[in-house]
Amino acid sequence: MLSLHGAGVSDGISIGAAFVLSRELPDITPQTLTPENVEQEVERFIGAVKAAREQLLKIREQIPRDAPLEAASFIDTHVLILDDKMISAAPIEIIRKERRNAEWALKIQSDRLSEIFEKMEDAYLRNKQTDVRQVVERVLRNLLRGPDEDDKLDPGEIVVATDLTPADTVVLKHKRIHAFVTTMGGPISHTAILARSLGIPAIVGVHNATRYVRGGEEIIVDGKRGVLIIAPDANTVAEYRKRQRDILRRREELARLRRSRAITLDKQDIVLLANIELPADVKAAIDAHAAGIGLYRTEFLFMNRASPPGEEEQFRAYVRVVRALPNKPVTIRTIDIGADKQVDGAAHSVGRLPVNPALGLRAVRLCLSDPSMFRPQLRAILRASAYGRVRMMIPMLSSQDELFRVLDLVEETKSQLKRQGHKFNPRIPIGGMVEVPATAISADLFAPHLDFFSIGTNDLIQYTLAIDRTDDAVSYLYDPLHPAVLRLISLTIEAGRKARIPVAMCGEMAGDARYTKLLLGLGLREFSMHPATLLMVKRNVRISHAAKLAKLARRALASRDTEAVHELIDYENGDDAA
Ligand code: PEP
Ligand code: MG
Repeated sequence: MLSLHGAGVSDGISIGAAFVLSRELPDITPQTLTPENVEQEVERFIGAVKAAREQLLKIREQIPRDAPLEAASFIDTHVLILDDKMISAAPIEIIRKERRNAEWALKIQSDRLSEIFEKMEDAYLRNKQTDVRQVVERVLRNLLRGPDEDDKLDPGEIVVATDLTPADTVVLKHKRIHAFVTTMGGPISHTAILARSLGIPAIVGVHNATRYVRGGEEIIVDGKRGVLIIAPDANTVAEYRKRQRDILRRREELARLRRSRAITLDKQDIVLLANIELPADVKAAIDAHAAGIGLYRTEFLFMNRASPPGEEEQFRAYVRVVRALPNKPVTIRTIDIGADKQVDGAAHSVGRLPVNPALGLRAVRLCLSDPSMFRPQLRAILRASAYGRVRMMIPMLSSQDELFRVLDLVEETKSQLKRQGHKFNPRIPIGGMVEVPATAISADLFAPHLDFFSIGTNDLIQYTLAIDRTDDAVSYLYDPLHPAVLRLISLTIEAGRKARIPVAMCGEMAGDARYTKLLLGLGLREFSMHPATLLMVKRNVRISHAAKLAKLARRALASRDTEAVHELIDYENGDDAA
């Protein structure tokens, strides 16, 4: 028995036989062709591209009806890339001119493309590198091995792979795969995001998993704790079967809370909102009876596609969400794309990332530096505000000047829309995310210019503790209970209270039931989280006395070290937290 650890990105436990999907391609070596073999090699290359195309179209047809609509667009992007001359024609030139084998020609061309992508200043386009690499690998696999191994999967197996493309994820769901484990990738990789929306337990970043797991071997995937157990003994299997049953029972118990109010014992109403990535996630938010959407990460609309969505497409996506939640707030965050959102499984193999990507041109900085990308989104959000309770939220604010520039752009856009006869809510609430320590420290300066704050703890913790949230080598330092983090949260809540604007939290901390009591004690009254965790947080709200918890918060804030805060919280939670 052996345990390996990674990041649990999609909850649940699965016990079953492993299917090791080895995607490691053998080293490609150059071979020189005799002149009479050149055309035959060209044909072989064309055949591999054709096979790759057919596989993608077949996968597209297999997308289950209940899969997010975006799954199809991920695959369309791959077809578009495959059809591009850079992939489908340039290698033929190399085969003919240099008389090289097809694999080598494709490799040369792919290296050239990587170089071009590396130099691109546009973060959005640079992000496309992952898709290009996945398409190149698909063609290479066809050249080297014939058809994809995916087709050989039997139902009920747990897939262990180096990396999965979005297309793979859809196929796996269709084939009723119960879980998957990848050696690469982080919690914000496409794979992880799709796994969550498709509801498959998953762990990513489990180094060496493909090396240690043998095909057919029994394994356990714990998607919550991020643990992979290989060849478990009978006791471990029994223990996990029991945990599987417990999870099921707990889910049934929690499901009964769906219609209950999120109210504390001392009658404080708490607003529990949902975070969504794609319009299709709204269903999960409605199922969990969320009070609205506290964070709609619109950047996912911009990923995995050949060109960014225009104003109309964005408008339709936003209206779809707003219409699905009548009379409920929908907080649309302006695009937060940047280097960090590109760190998915591919990053390690596609080459160097920009230096300090998290400190670079991302989110509002990128939007202000490229208003041609930002303006259509502002127009789409404003136009969607005519259809419901839309709120706009600005990520990564670090200076007031940035905020004023955004507000000016919003005013300009409003005037333009008015002139053009478009409807919108002229008093659309505009909120700012508190994710940078400077912003939390000076929250009192931002508050008078905003309608609400939302604390993004994922980034706030990263920047406060100086740890890259995507680097698993330092993830042990990532601690929401660090006294510095708690002080910044408290400062922000206080600034909001004094300025009489609501303060929400939409980072992962808000959805972790272990922290519900502490956050209530700190004065937080709006929590936004992945819909899967909402009922757990609601359960803890309902057993909490908010006023009494203020004392707990004061003690936590006065604690001398992180360990002391952990002990305090564990003691307070007893067996209550999930
Ligand atoms: C955060 O930083 O806490 C947040 C909610 O934003 P994201 O995770 O999308 O960066
Ligand atoms: Mg963030």
